[in-house]
Amino acid sequence: MPAMDITASVATLRDRVDRVTTAAQRAPGSVTILGVTKTVPRETVLAAIAAGLTDIGENYLQEARSKYVGLPPVRTHFIGHVQTNKAKAITALFDVVQSVDRLESGLALAKAAQTAGKALRALVQINISPAERFGIAPAEAPALARRLRDEGLVVDGVMAIGPLGGSVEDAFALAAQTFAAVGGATLSLGMSGDWERAIAHGSTMIRIGSALFGPRPAREGALA
Ligand SMILES: *Cc1c(COP(=O)(O)O)cnc(C)c1O
Repeated sequence: MPAMDITASVATLRDRVDRVTTAAQRAPGSVTILGVTKTVPRETVLAAIAAGLTDIGENYLQEARSKYVGLPPVRTHFIGHVQTNKAKAITALFDVVQSVDRLESGLALAKAAQTAGKALRALVQINISPAERFGIAPAEAPALARRLRDEGLVVDGVMAIGPLGGSVEDAFALAAQTFAAVGGATLSLGMSGDWERAIAHGSTMIRIGSALFGPRPAREGALA
């Protein structure tokens, strides 16, 4: 997408998000837009940041390595599956890891953050959809959060991927309830197809790829 289109795209989405947030009786500006940049070229990411995007996220460490170095001030989020042997590299490159869904990867991140002297923020990824491979059972999320906080990780809330198609209401209500039990400031919930419902359920951060950057090319073996 050319730079001009991206500028308009960011402004239009921000405007829509503020209207939906206000309609949900919530303060405009209380929902952060996380731009999901997978498959998006670096120049487009730079244009989106220039247009006011404050938060960006990637699923693949390798892809972020070539795009997320030397950017203007922006918060970077890792939203892919955390392999324990990549914890150090993920910690070095990202400000927030949204996808902690088991003790082993959380402990590896806590250790890497301590070694690097970095206050790494993390979210517990919960599973609220039968079609999703990853995410801890919602009932187990508060105990995982507690344990990882004891280890020095700044656990700031919950991330979830909604069910594709069908009703999201029960799943999003469960995510909000789990967020309340875990505590923190961030409920990362909602993507291009379901962000309006997510905001109605209290999401504080929507993760938007295609609705911001246009449709993604199909990718062999891609998870999303
Ligand atoms: C790809 C992805 C998104 C964004 O998806 P869109 O439907 O394009 O908005 C959000 N969250 C995660 C974890 C993703 O992998």
